[in-house]
Amino acid sequence: MVKAVVGANWGDEGKGKITDMLAEKADIVVRFQGGANAGHTIVNKYGKFALHTLPSGAFYEHITSVIGNGVALNIPILFGEIKNIIDRGVPAPKIMISDRAQMVMPYHILFDQYEEERLGGKSFGSTKSGIAPFYSDKYAKIGFQVSELFDDDLLKEKVERICGIKNVTLEHLYHKPLLDPAELLNTLHEYRDMVAPYVGDVSSFLNNALKEGKTILLEGQLGTLKDPDHGIYPMVTSSSTLAAYGAIGAGIPPYEIKQIITVCKAYSSAVGAGAFVSEIFGEEADELRRRGGDGGEYGATTGRPRRMGWFDCVASKYGCRLQGTTDVAFTVLDVLGYLDEIPVCTGYEIDGEVTTDFPVTHKLEKAKPVLKTLPGWKCDIRGIKNYDELPENCRNYVEFIEEQIGFPITMVSNGPGREDIIYRESKLSK
Ligand code: GDP
Repeated sequence: MVKAVVGANWGDEGKGKITDMLAEKADIVVRFQGGANAGHTIVNKYGKFALHTLPSGAFYEHITSVIGNGVALNIPILFGEIKNIIDRGVPAPKIMISDRAQMVMPYHILFDQYEEERLGGKSFGSTKSGIAPFYSDKYAKIGFQVSELFDDDLLKEKVERICGIKNVTLEHLYHKPLLDPAELLNTLHEYRDMVAPYVGDVSSFLNNALKEGKTILLEGQLGTLKDPDHGIYPMVTSSSTLAAYGAIGAGIPPYEIKQIITVCKAYSSAVGAGAFVSEIFGEEADELRRRGGDGGEYGATTGRPRRMGWFDCVASKYGCRLQGTTDVAFTVLDVLGYLDEIPVCTGYEIDGEVTTDFPVTHKLEKAKPVLKTLPGWKCDIRGIKNYDELPENCRNYVEFIEEQIGFPITMVSNGPGREDIIYRESKLSK
């Protein structure tokens, strides 16, 4: 069976921890979209790791880690990550890379930087990992598929042709150095030698695994609000962040996805530009940022301080609905233990009217948060294993949010480690 682990919000909800935890009882973990532009932080017996491309199951010997066709594959970063975990004592992970995945080229990263420079103050706050130029080229049909590395005539012709196209923009729009086809071809030969042992037909591998009754986890990157169709366009990422896209980005039938675990953090954080209705500022935000996550809310890829806010029921209800949530994993609840009172955003006021429906971007920009304040629990809940043992105010917080979002919270995470999880029965479970 297939389970998807996806985000309800802007990303950084703790998907890496939940995937790593669920991987104990799975066989295969697949990345199906996105690239090295966001990170997952995982804490386990080997230490603390920030992964950007490697699936979060890579720490188990029984797991096969798969890069699906939907991913923006940055080969040097993937291999750097594999080397890094091996150097730190993790057994070499079993890896499979889709022959249909496309590669982030060195010029995609340059174009990302040049475009942000060109846009100046109007930039998207890109992580400059080449993701938008990569997906633009994929859909403009001028991307490079991993399979093409193994046909040298095709590769040479294509490198010449693409460099011709790119050099026009480099010369006339960005006024930057031109690409040298011979150098690019050399780089691609290096990529070919690196990936060769791992390349395969992922779709066929996964379909066979399903026939054998294996458990597959689809690991999403970012969250619903960064989806190019359903998110806060244009402040979104360039590939779909929804569980439904897992079927496409991995090459499996959509009806095989039986469980959709949507990860929601007990407060909000976001990176990059864009409307963020429940955002907080000043000392209140600094304190939550300092205490947040595991060692502070700073980007796993960029180290940038994350924008902070209270839990947003409007965005999360929408985020869970678009994912097709069967289970909510409610994470980082332990961090809120210092607060006397915890505000929660229960509605948006737009042009004098209150709504609980998440609006399109130009209306979102006008939205003001409607806040309800709940009492805090003022203690450390780490180490608690049973839901009933959580302080009453803490349970009330969980249950209030569950009622507002309308999806069952069946897991509560109270620490960064694999074992910091509380399972709970929900009245909303079907
Ligand atoms: P992802 O991209 O969705 O995997 O999220 P990140 O890894 O960027 O951010 C989640 C952060 O919170 C990481 O530093 C995790 O180690 C940490 N984390 C995850 N779950 C919990 C939790 O329940 N409690 C605490 N304190 N930290 C958590």
